[in-house]
Amino acid sequence: MDDSQFKNLAEEAPFELSPVMPTLLEGDKVIQFRCHKDVGCWNACCSNIDITLTPYDILRLKNRLNLSSGDFLKQYTVPYEMDQDGTPGVKFRPVEGGTACQFMRPEGCAVYEDRPTACRYYPVALLSMRNQDEFTDRTSYALVQEPHCWGHKEPRSLSIDEYRQEQGVDVYDEKGRGWRQLVLKKKSAGPAIGKPPAISNQLFFMASYDVDRFRAFVSSETFNRTYDVPMEVMATLLADDEALLDFGYNFLKHALFGERFLEEQPGAYEARTERLKAKAEKIRAEYEAQREKREDEKYAEPGKPGDCGCGSEG
Ligand code: SF4
Ligand code: SF4
Repeated sequence: MDDSQFKNLAEEAPFELSPVMPTLLEGDKVIQFRCHKDVGCWNACCSNIDITLTPYDILRLKNRLNLSSGDFLKQYTVPYEMDQDGTPGVKFRPVEGGTACQFMRPEGCAVYEDRPTACRYYPVALLSMRNQDEFTDRTSYALVQEPHCWGHKEPRSLSIDEYRQEQGVDVYDEKGRGWRQLVLKKKSAGPAIGKPPAISNQLFFMASYDVDRFRAFVSSETFNRTYDVPMEVMATLLADDEALLDFGYNFLKHALFGERFLEEQPGAYEARTERLKAKAEKIRAEYEAQREKREDEKYAEPGKPGDCGCGSEG
């Protein structure tokens, strides 16, 4: 694979890549690596963080900390834009005035059992890619070798697949697959003409990251007046965060790409058309009123001497 091919693949990857140019690796590639408390660089990687969070990462952490998704997002994350269309992403917010992770402790990670996907994978990077003519994503890996990480000098060899198993990433990959595919789909759809409406990015943010607010949205009267969600499905969504995340990915495909997933309530289309017509009519009426006001003001302006252009003041 030459550099230009890698550049194309890298541009399609859902996460930012390390500044270190990686080589694409398969799961059976053997690497040399071990991280343990006695390594000389202990905590170096958690002292200067740039960690993108997936929806499942947020779910695990907010449940561990017993916080609502909204409170977790406010306290522990910062938003960023994943692409030129402003697709919202979320990263860890470091400690106030510093670069270290808020969960870093001298003895190690305070949320180890629920640490995010990127922390589990490090120093392996997951690259999920999809060609425009393919319907499934392909997974490759890269090894990130940064000078501050001495784990690469430790005398232990294992395959990437073995390392993934040791770090418990399977469940994270499984639960994150729907979202990764959604992000790749959004990227491979190409640049929109102009920025997409703010509402579509707000919807993406809510369904992806703010699961408690999304639950309130799904159980709202407005949502249920529009969509016909069977009672037993709704009951599951209200009780099960993970089912709600999966529902959210499919709902986003429905709302953003027109992939039919939900049945609309009878008459919902007509009601929406009426609402849009009424909105358009209101905008037109406001525009007309503004235009008439401007015309009136123009003719009501008192003339100054000489305004008539004849040179006289009479
Ligand atoms: S969550 Fe844990 S492993 Fe990840 S950066 Fe923070 S302290 Fe390090
Ligand atoms: S820098 Fe590398 S070896 Fe050191 S603590 Fe972090 S992951 Fe482990």
